[in-house]
Amino acid sequence: MPNEHLVTLRRRVDAHFHDATQRDPQAFSCAEGCAQCCHRRFDVFEVEAAPIRAALAGLERDNPALRRRLRTQADAPDHADKCALLVDDRCSVYEQRPLICRSHGLPVAIQHADELRVSWCELNYRATDPPRESMLVLDAINAPLAVLTELEAPAAPRVSLASLAREA
Ligand code: SF4
Repeated sequence: MPNEHLVTLRRRVDAHFHDATQRDPQAFSCAEGCAQCCHRRFDVFEVEAAPIRAALAGLERDNPALRRRLRTQADAPDHADKCALLVDDRCSVYEQRPLICRSHGLPVAIQHADELRVSWCELNYRATDPPRESMLVLDAINAPLAVLTELEAPAAPRVSLASLAREA
């Protein structure tokens, strides 16, 4: 089971995403099968790695062929620019995907001194800029995640999703 505070954080980010899409449905191109945001490789803190590891153990039991594929593609040159957990443009651990992945598609904001710097997927908000209430301030995720990490696994290094895919 994921950490209960992590579950709460996930719910908040998922609700923020839902509210943003309800506010401006025409601004979002996000849909099942669009995996542009997954064409990167991410690291996570141990508190997020643990539930992904458990999901992968479930796959080992329920779908060993898929589990083998993840292991193989973690080091496959033709998959090097994509997340090792991405299969046919779908996330193989979708329910347990990390917070950063739950923010995909939203306009994300980073505070620099007095300025809020905002970026978003080029497929979204093509006609108008996003409203402030739809922006996700990344510190609002990163700060509680850092606290959770400090409480749960302070000395644990960050873990790459590719290394989770490789694990036996
Ligand atoms: S964990 Fe899932 S949602 Fe996140 S980048 Fe990988 S495939 Fe995409």
